[in-house]
Amino acid sequence: MNKTLSKRTCHLTFDSLEISEALRSAVKKAGYEAPTPIQAGLFPLVMEGFDIIGQAQTGTGKTAAFTLPLIENAADVDASQGPLALVIVPTRELALQVTTEVEKLSYKSRIASLAVYGGTPIRQQMDRLRKNPQIVVGTPGRIIDLIKKRCLRANNLDFVVLDEADRMLDIGFRPDIEWILRQCPEQRQTILLSATVPEEVLQLAKRYMYRPQLVNFSPKNISVDSIDQNYFLVEESTKMPLLNALLEKECPQQAIVFCRTKIRTEKIYRRLLKIMDGVQCIHGDMSQGARNRTMQSFRDRKFRIMVATDVMGRGIDVSGISHIINMDLPELSDDYVHRVGRTGRMGREGVAFSFVTKDEGIRLTEIEKRINLLLDRIPVSDYLPDFVEPTRNPTSNEELEKRVKRKHRRSIAL
Ligand code: AMP
Repeated sequence: MNKTLSKRTCHLTFDSLEISEALRSAVKKAGYEAPTPIQAGLFPLVMEGFDIIGQAQTGTGKTAAFTLPLIENAADVDASQGPLALVIVPTRELALQVTTEVEKLSYKSRIASLAVYGGTPIRQQMDRLRKNPQIVVGTPGRIIDLIKKRCLRANNLDFVVLDEADRMLDIGFRPDIEWILRQCPEQRQTILLSATVPEEVLQLAKRYMYRPQLVNFSPKNISVDSIDQNYFLVEESTKMPLLNALLEKECPQQAIVFCRTKIRTEKIYRRLLKIMDGVQCIHGDMSQGARNRTMQSFRDRKFRIMVATDVMGRGIDVSGISHIINMDLPELSDDYVHRVGRTGRMGREGVAFSFVTKDEGIRLTEIEKRINLLLDRIPVSDYLPDFVEPTRNPTSNEELEKRVKRKHRRSIAL
């Protein structure tokens, strides 16, 4: 297992992604304990059938992120009429790396994959194509040769993946990629991964993808500066009345209420249901189908309040969210960034409220360090007039002093 990467895995489990038994044992065998953010974010979107533009760097687990749903879809599929998935990559090394990952993760699933690339005799690859692999991974030039020789059939593809798209465009593969895409069935699903998303990549997407979901899996690049971020210092027992008062007074266009666990999400959802309409919840105990339907109605603005675990914090692009309420602080600061990044998208304004208990001072400070910004404390009594404010436990006197100075500097700068 990759050690640095495991540190950045999220709290979701592979079980919560609703993967098949075969895939579950394969990830276990590979030593992957939990999905990385991109794996957790991409899997449901691919299974839902979306075209995707995913911004992600190497080292984030992105190869497995797209191979897992490909394997899930391709297992036991008859590929005698041509492969089910074509992965286009810029280099031979990457082609081999992707097929190695497919082999590793298709243990127990009956999947054959093949890497095709230039610089080696084409004949051997032609022979292997006759064995009908479900997944073909290759560099653009060799893919074109094989299609022209009618050894590789593109007309039955369900998936096309463009990995490292920005790099492929940089090294002049644009005409080749466009040619390949034109050979593929129109109703295919296209997944584009790129470390950066420059205009050129967007143009390619506009031409060859259907309503792509743009998702950014590089937490450092998610800007939360434009979001009005606040916190309340509360007792656990005040959280629910505060939530009610907040929703009533703020009257959000659409809001996500984030909770730490599935059980708590259900509980909060049921309590809200008793007092208002237009509430739904989403978490990993729900079936993939139910989650997809809930997400779609939220996107279609059929309801206003979504109570969610971090299942929703990752990558999902819903444009109308005006409010994020962190009923519980997340354990990881990156998860805070992902949650809050659900609002204020595409330059829209957003507001976030976090409920912080007295002993969560350190966690709040960590989040503030991560976003390089101090959250503004709002008195609970602004929403619950009878509430008596507790005081926040400073992490240390020194820390408190630093905070006060930083806050002072910030107010001078403003
Ligand atoms: P990539 O970003 O695809 O180049 O992957 C980087 C490395 O992380 C590879 O060695 C993968 O085998 C490994 N890896 C992928 N997913 C996971 C995971 N969920 N947990 C731990 N390691 C992983």
